Amino acid sequence: MPTALPPVPTDRAALLQRLSEGGRFDVAVVGGGATGLGVALDAASRGLSVVLLEGQDFAKGTSSRSTKLLHGGVRYLAQGNVGLVKEALHERTTVLRNAPHLAQPLPFVMPSYKTWETPFYGIGLKVYDALAGSAGLGATDFLGREAALRALPTLRTEGLKGGVRYWDGQFDDARLAVTLARTAAAHGALLINHCPVTGLLHDQGKLGGLRCEDRETGRAFELRARCVINATGVWVDGLRRQDGAARHAEVRAMLAPSQGVHVVVDRDFLPSDHALLVPKTADGRVLFAVPWLGKLVLGTTDTPRTDLPLEPTAFAHEIDFILGESARYLQRAPTAADVKSHWVGLRPLVKPDSSSGENTQGISREHTVLISARGLVTVTGGNWTTYRAMAEDVLKKCRDAGLLPGLADGRSDHLPLLGAAGTPADQPPVSAPPGAHSYGGEREHMWALPGAERELGGGLTEAMVRFAVRFEYARTVEDVLARRSRLLFLDAALAASLAEEVGAIVRQETGRDPQVADCVALARQHLTLPA
Ligand SMILES: Cc1cc2nc3c(=O)[nH]c(=O)nc-3n(C[C@H](O)[C@H](O)[C@H](O)COP(=O)(O)OP(=O)(O)OC[C@H]3O[C@@H](n4cnc5c(N)ncnc54)[C@H](O)[C@@H]3O)c2cc1C
Repeated sequence: MPTALPPVPTDRAALLQRLSEGGRFDVAVVGGGATGLGVALDAASRGLSVVLLEGQDFAKGTSSRSTKLLHGGVRYLAQGNVGLVKEALHERTTVLRNAPHLAQPLPFVMPSYKTWETPFYGIGLKVYDALAGSAGLGATDFLGREAALRALPTLRTEGLKGGVRYWDGQFDDARLAVTLARTAAAHGALLINHCPVTGLLHDQGKLGGLRCEDRETGRAFELRARCVINATGVWVDGLRRQDGAARHAEVRAMLAPSQGVHVVVDRDFLPSDHALLVPKTADGRVLFAVPWLGKLVLGTTDTPRTDLPLEPTAFAHEIDFILGESARYLQRAPTAADVKSHWVGLRPLVKPDSSSGENTQGISREHTVLISARGLVTVTGGNWTTYRAMAEDVLKKCRDAGLLPGLADGRSDHLPLLGAAGTPADQPPVSAPPGAHSYGGEREHMWALPGAERELGGGLTEAMVRFAVRFEYARTVEDVLARRSRLLFLDAALAASLAEEVGAIVRQETGRDPQVADCVALARQHLTLPA
């Protein structure tokens, strides 16, 4: 594998120095999840000057809490929305090509316990294959009972008729987010985490900039931008209110969020490189059991949630649903005592009438772009898989609205992300235990750091921690254990046991308090299920 160029340091003092120099950016993005990072990279790769501010850490919001599937939108097919399926299939291919070290194809099996299920689901998936054409990752096949058991050896055998196998993609969501941030920086964008936007600046009724604050020092900054993009996920309505407060007594909420829970158990509950998909649970939902980074992820739920905590907690009925449904399909039922970690993500679901009362620049079923009368561009909805298409759409709408005149055409669909080398077929799958392979072509640079041979646990080495701080914007133990390594999501007790040791390395690198106790408390939350 070729060695990539030396990684660019993410020295915080230097980043804040650039921020303090002022000037006027073409684009200021608020929010460093999939949506905002995609916009920052797309804009920077077209030669625009870009700043992105993330209040917590990149992907700390929904973008580290997904099911980690790159899906071609098979469910839109059932709704007859061929356009959306084609877009999602195109984007699936794009991520696999541009980040082969972080995203790979994954086979799924839908088991059939009723004779009609195999032809019913199989024919729909054959249509999916046909739409995918050359973007297809493998042909759908109809499995007999024995073949289904070869693919998923611990599937409940009683009444099993067979199944259908189809292909989609899988990725490491938080590492992809950090890689998007680093790739945008390599194209000249200025990205700063732990730096929330605290206010918007208007000149004669038009939005012209923003105020932000370095959370580490409390230092405030003001900056100007031609175009301010609100990509704050489920929190978009908060920023919209700041934009509209002077003109409107109230800004109508765009979102009706819902939460989804995932539970992690050991892989021996389903020792396979295939995922299990139950298309219709007892109450009509979808359930996945997905091999991911050496563990098995079970989920998810869909529960409306009106408060929007940064660290949402699961409801007992959600855990009961996941474990109960898993028990119906697996020979050995996972129990609460088997759970190694769990996480909760908030879906930014757009209300159908969210355009009313504002200047709507465009609304689609999948994501929404709104440009307010004062010029705040809000983008939300959609999903991880289509982040790049969303970014292209936002920038096009900014150009059409006169905010970015003369905008060059995009080229992000053929833009390899940092570390990309080879093809997905050259790499261990994302379902394999974590290791140096997720650094792709940059792994030699990681290995060159002190502590490459010193494994702390769970595949995490001292050198990886140093790489995270020096080149991947990590500032705290949580940044390392939750989103550079994914140990907090995979095995919260192991993550807690490593927190002190990781903290000592982070402190050496940053010279600051690495917030060990906060990470240990968070690990407890990932481990403790609701009563
Ligand atoms: C349970 C679940 C499962 C999912 N599974 C999949 C899947 O398998 N595949 C898929 O394609 N999609 C999936 N999705 C959808 C996908 O995860 C989301 O669409 C996507 O992550 C949303 O990204 P975002 O950037 O809009 O929001 P976020 O990731 O939440 O990012 C918003 C960011 O804005 C920051 N922010 C907020 N306020 C401020 C401020 N004032 N200043 C600065 N920063 C601020 C937040 O800290 C946050 O980091 C799933 C979603 C959920 C909930």
